[in-house]
Amino acid sequence: MSEKFDVIIIGGGPAGLSAAYFLAKKGIEALVLERGPEPGSKNVFGGRIYSYVFDKYFPGWRKEAPIERWVRRERLAISCEDSTVTLEFRPHRGLDNKYDSFTAFLSKFVAWMAEKVEEEGAMVLTSSKVDEIIFKDGYASGVKAGGEELNADYIVIAEGVNTLLSEKHGIRERPKLETTALGVKEVIKVKKEIINERFGIDDWEGVAEFILGYPLLGVAGGGFLYTMKEYVTLGAVVRLSEIRKRKVTMKDLAELLRTHPAVKSLVKDGTLVEYSAHLTREGGLLDVMDKPYGNGYVVVGDAAGFLLNTGFTIRGVDMAVESGRIAAEAIAKAHEEGRRDEEALSYYKELLERSIIMENLKEFSKLPSFLENERLYNTYPKIICETLSAIYTTNERAERAYPALRSSMKRHGVGLLTLISDILKARGAI
Ligand SMILES: Cc1cc2nc3c(=O)[nH]c(=O)nc-3n(C[C@H](O)[C@H](O)[C@H](O)COP(=O)(O)OP(=O)(O)OC[C@H]3O[C@@H](n4cnc5c(N)ncnc54)[C@H](O)[C@@H]3O)c2cc1C
Repeated sequence: MSEKFDVIIIGGGPAGLSAAYFLAKKGIEALVLERGPEPGSKNVFGGRIYSYVFDKYFPGWRKEAPIERWVRRERLAISCEDSTVTLEFRPHRGLDNKYDSFTAFLSKFVAWMAEKVEEEGAMVLTSSKVDEIIFKDGYASGVKAGGEELNADYIVIAEGVNTLLSEKHGIRERPKLETTALGVKEVIKVKKEIINERFGIDDWEGVAEFILGYPLLGVAGGGFLYTMKEYVTLGAVVRLSEIRKRKVTMKDLAELLRTHPAVKSLVKDGTLVEYSAHLTREGGLLDVMDKPYGNGYVVVGDAAGFLLNTGFTIRGVDMAVESGRIAAEAIAKAHEEGRRDEEALSYYKELLERSIIMENLKEFSKLPSFLENERLYNTYPKIICETLSAIYTTNERAERAYPALRSSMKRHGVGLLTLISDILKARGAI
């Protein structure tokens, strides 16, 4: 291995591998250093990836990537202690649909991306933890990894949400506790035929479910469920500040979720094969770095804060891939001009500002503060469940929906003005 590279990329997640893929395509020598023993072994995510980004840039990917199932049931489950209200959206789409998303194991998917990167001629080195970025004359000029020094003209920081290196070098501040969340995920093995039968789907079809309310004790956050071919992934993302306040552990929440009647029947007789936890961000635009570039470096993916929460879905992988592509674009231009200074690399920010990443994050900029409303996780799920319960509980006396709603609202101390004010806030946020 030569000691000097054009570009060294710290982190072999979707963002880092995307940067390597596009750099290699442009004939720029790139080395990815990944601390995990395999590409993808350290990545945690829920289970769904949006396909548009791969349709655009990875020809033929649908035939070779490790796709589990194509999402054909979008469900929103509002759960209470004794009932659940489920809203289901069923797009009638065949395969090869450009508006698609699919379920996947990120570990397998990232391993596939690493293969693509290597096919393009870049190198991916695993079990290589970067301990330090080397700065020479104010320029990021290499890294120290396992006692070895490796030099490069450009460094791409793709270390994910846990920004230890960036913080160490004063590149970004430690994210605020209020916008940091913890995610847990359980992987439960369930036979393919049983999954198909329980969810009413075909071999290739998948379900993505978002769960709100009681199973998470009404804490600010949400649960998720995805169907893989022979597994169901189940988990939750909850703000760290809430976990501290309520003195619950994520293990407790995962257990409550798994044993809630609405979920229990879906994973019945399954075998829990994996449990993982990972930090994530909830601040949207607030978490985005003002200056994701400097002399000799750029920051991509989660490390730069490019994670989109739409209130119903989390989009991190497509944002990571897109930011890696844009970083490669900016580096290629600077490389051609023989420059490494921050002014040249500010082109990265210029491209980001015009990209779908910033457009999406700006569109959802009011969401994080809207999601702080406790009523969304506790009171409103109860009102919805109680109202439907009143309508569908057969008695001699038949209930009308509106009085049932008003009496539930009264029970929970929600007046019409509060409801209208929350609806108005929702209008600007979701
Ligand atoms: C519970 C949970 C559920 C989620 N669900 C979804 C979902 O369904 N869909 C979706 O699109 N997104 C989801 N996300 C977000 C998504 O996982 C991330 O946005 C995405 O993985 C970001 O990619 P990345 O490459 O920036 O970071 P990561 O995927 O975190 O990759 C960073 C890589 O850098 C490596 N690394 C870190 N430090 C070093 C170092 N010093 N030296 C060498 N290597 C290092 C790590 O090992 C890791 O492989 C979820 C996240 C969580 C936590």
